[in-house]
Amino acid sequence: MSIDNQFVHNISAQLDQFKKKNKGVYNFRCPYCGDSQKYKNKARGYFFTSKNDLVYKCHNCGIGRSFSAFLKEKFPLVYDQYVMEKYKAGLTGKHRSVPKPEFHFDKPTFKKRVNLQRLSDLNNSHLALAYVMGRGLPLDKLDQLYYCPNFKQWTNTHKQTFKSTKHDEERIIIPLNDKDGNLMGFQGRAFNHPTEMRYITIMLEKDAPKIFGLDKVNTNDPIYIVEGPFDSLFLDNSVAMAGSDLDPRSFGWSDYIWVYDNEPRNREIVNRINKTISRGDQVIIWPKHVQQKDINDMVLSGHNVKNLLESNTYHKLEATLKLKDWNKV
Ligand SMILES: [Zn+2]
Repeated sequence: MSIDNQFVHNISAQLDQFKKKNKGVYNFRCPYCGDSQKYKNKARGYFFTSKNDLVYKCHNCGIGRSFSAFLKEKFPLVYDQYVMEKYKAGLTGKHRSVPKPEFHFDKPTFKKRVNLQRLSDLNNSHLALAYVMGRGLPLDKLDQLYYCPNFKQWTNTHKQTFKSTKHDEERIIIPLNDKDGNLMGFQGRAFNHPTEMRYITIMLEKDAPKIFGLDKVNTNDPIYIVEGPFDSLFLDNSVAMAGSDLDPRSFGWSDYIWVYDNEPRNREIVNRINKTISRGDQVIIWPKHVQQKDINDMVLSGHNVKNLLESNTYHKLEATLKLKDWNKV
């Protein structure tokens, strides 16, 4: 056992909810932020191995520390022993005694997360919160969205995108995570000012699929694929296409259903439904009595969208016939 792992073992009894996850990966409640006050079993602090050394990272408050800095701050007495052990093993001195403070969290194990306030944590009078509540978004889903007061500047800290950060603007951030919750990109949704660009999509990982909700779906159940991230929040097991078409065959889902907007006059949507049907996929064809264009509007008008979806799922010949009828002028 390495010295670091030995010392983790020594302090483990004093770390709340401590668990060994894997070789060189340990999980426990963050002693910096205290982790979730509401959920006593939430544990988002991790030690993990990076270049032979352990490092600490909290996925709640975002703090990152070398193992030695962690000990120094949280277990100063243990830290002194630790330095002695390292010294005896010839692991102190130049380039050693203080592990370098710059960490690379863009490893496959732990990627970037959104370091902003969640909408669910905003003050009740906040305009961003008022906006999503006005749209009737489910309150228990608001922790999936974030508020960014300075979109251009914040985006540039992830990826140089805007030449000028003048006339910066506030936006709601919709994270695009992979299935493990690693941030692949994000959408900035305007809500409080007139703009030509209601949505701006920024991809941090060039080849990652532009999908919202990948980390939240249960792949053993049917998955609804909708057009807008906000729409997907109204459904239980749902993802949203954030821009382009996606090919779900690459995700290994057992069952999925396409939900396009209710726009029978929109040729592009009709073409896409046609393509979906010819692939043999299941698709929703909205009944004629539903007037609203998208799920959000349907919910606001009092429709039971879950029932609508369940009773209007079609595929193959039946889908083709329903589409013709829906599309009829
Ligand atoms: Zn923390």
